[in-house]
Formats: sequence, structure tokens, C-alpha cells
Amino acid sequence: MALQGTIAAFSVAGELLGWFGDHSAASRAAVAWIAVYHIFRVAYVVRRRATHRPVRAIEALIPLLDVSCISSGWIVLGNPLSPFWAAYLYALVGYARRMHGWEFARTAAFILVNLAVAQGVTAWRAGGAPVNADQATMLVIAATMASLAHKVGAGWREAERQARALAETDPLTGLPNRRHFLSQLELRADADFGYAVLMMDIDDFKRLNDEHGHLHGDAVLERVAGVLRANIREGDLLARYGGEEFVVAMPGADLAQALQVAERLRAAVERDTPSSISVGCAVRAPGETLDDVLRRADDLLLFAKRTGKNVVRWEPTRRSA
Ligand code: GH3
Ligand code: MG
Ligand code: MG
Repeated sequence: MALQGTIAAFSVAGELLGWFGDHSAASRAAVAWIAVYHIFRVAYVVRRRATHRPVRAIEALIPLLDVSCISSGWIVLGNPLSPFWAAYLYALVGYARRMHGWEFARTAAFILVNLAVAQGVTAWRAGGAPVNADQATMLVIAATMASLAHKVGAGWREAERQARALAETDPLTGLPNRRHFLSQLELRADADFGYAVLMMDIDDFKRLNDEHGHLHGDAVLERVAGVLRANIREGDLLARYGGEEFVVAMPGADLAQALQVAERLRAAVERDTPSSISVGCAVRAPGETLDDVLRRADDLLLFAKRTGKNVVRWEPTRRSA
């Protein structure tokens, strides 16, 4: 966007102030196209930021139209050897970061064709040959840059993916961590999004650690996480919420469904691991925030702890003191 804006301002001001170009009809048409397109582009970006609703067809066209503006800018400049052509290299690197596979191959091919045509037209208008050695050199450099940028872009995306996975995942259990859990739910925080939350905590885990050591404790945590993962419904979000606490969010679940899953999880942990869990179950009431629901589920978990452990509690019949 920064490069695009600079090109647009530079080309339009240059033409109006007579810095360069031949003021021919072609030059004026190119400047008019750059100006009109950028007014549209700025209006679209402002709308997208306000509504958070990108229009897919426009998003697909923007890279192509941006590149056509680079070509138009070059034609306005009128110099077939202008260093301005490096704008195509900048575009190649930028798109390689965002696109991959066929999408990048198509865009890179479009950029190379634009480079060849804009250089050829500019050279021809300046009295030279539309196909020339400089153009061939630029094309070879741009094609090499495309291939290199594609490799660097792939590495970049992979590094971003790994960094995101590390930031979102609990290393011991492989489950999403608390931050990821909260951000996933915040993303869907619209007023009518209904869900249930199960807050779970392993019973007497400290004693298990003390008696058998932390490594054994870690193994039990992994085991419990595996059992929980195997017993949730598809579409539910399970996370390690804290030390030996886990949480499940169940989009669209009512109290009966949430309790059924809660009881299934409790029974599975009791059956398949050397420990047990207590569960607090809360369903989002209209108008409640995520914090409200989590606090209620946590209160109910505390209530479960104080009334025997290895149980599911769902009604705030007694608030924690
Ligand atoms: P309650 O039934 O009331 O929940 O008792 P508890 O002993 O489970 O609860 P408490 O909160 O007193 O103890 C939790 C323990 O969990 C303390 C902490 O050392 C242990 N813990 C937290 N994270 C880990 C971990 O990653 N690995 C191991 N091995 N232990 C952990
Ligand atoms: Mg515990
Ligand atoms: Mg705890």
C-alpha cells in the first residue's frame, strides 16, 4: 500500500506539474487510471476496515490492478531504463509473503508480463525496439527474484505457523493453552452466541505429585488430556486452562447436552486414569460475558471440590464463600 500510494502520488503530481512524460494521450490516460483506481482503492480499504467484511472478488483483483498501476506509472515516466522497474521486484517479494502455490505463480507470471509489456511500450514510444536486451535482462532478474521470493516466502510462512503453534499450544499435553482458548471464544463474542463451559480440575493432584514425583504427575496430566480429547464432541474446544485445570467450551450446547458430556468426561477420567476430576458446568445466559460464564463455572468447580470431588456441579445452589 505504501509503494502503491507513492507511485500514485508521484505519477499524478509528475504529470500535472510536467516533471516528466510527453503529455500524450497515452500518458494522460495512464495517470487518469492511476488516480481513479487509487480513489477506489482507498475507499474500499476504509470500508473494509470499518465493516471487517472483505469482498472476495475485489480482494482477488487488487494485486492485478496494483501491478497494472506500476506499469501505468512506468509508461507515464517514459524512460525504458528507469530504476522505477524495481517496483515490480518489490511487488514480487510482497506477494510471495502472502501467496503460495498456484496463486503466487499466476501473480508472478502476470507481473513478468506487465514488466515486459510496459518496458516494450516505453522503449517503443522513446523510439527504440519494443523487444530489447534490457527488457530481457530485467525479465531474467525478475524471474530469478520470483523464484527466490517464493522460497523465502514459504520459509517465512512456516516460521509464522510454528511461532503461532508454539504461542497457542501447551507443550506438555499438546492442547491449546488458556490464551488461545480465550482468544478463540472472544472471536465469537457476538450477543447471540450460545455455549456451555466445563471447568475441570484434577482431584488431589498435589498428593499424587508428592507421592510419586513430578514426572509421574506430568504423565498423568498427559493421560488425562488424552482421555478428555477422546471424549469431547467434534467442534468443542478443549484447552489446558492452568496447572492441572482443563476447560471445554461447547458451542450451541444446552445444559442437558453439557451435563451429558461433563458426566462422560468425569467417568472416563475415573475409569482410564489413576486420578479423577471435578467439574463445574455453566451455560451462557443471555447478556453474560465470557468472564461471567467462566467465573460461574469456576465457582461451581469449587463447589464440586467442597462437596466430595469426582462430581459434576451445575447449579449455583451454594455460591463459594
Ligand atoms: P484439589 O483436589 O482441591 O484440586 O487438590 P489438588 O492437590 O489437586 O490442588 P492444588 O491446587 O493444591 O494442587 C495442584 C498441584 O498441581 C500443585 C502443582 O504442583 C501441581 N501442578 C501444576 N502444574 C503441574 C505440572 O505441569 N506438572 C506436575 N507434575 N504438577 C503440576
Ligand atoms: Mg486439583
Ligand atoms: Mg487446581
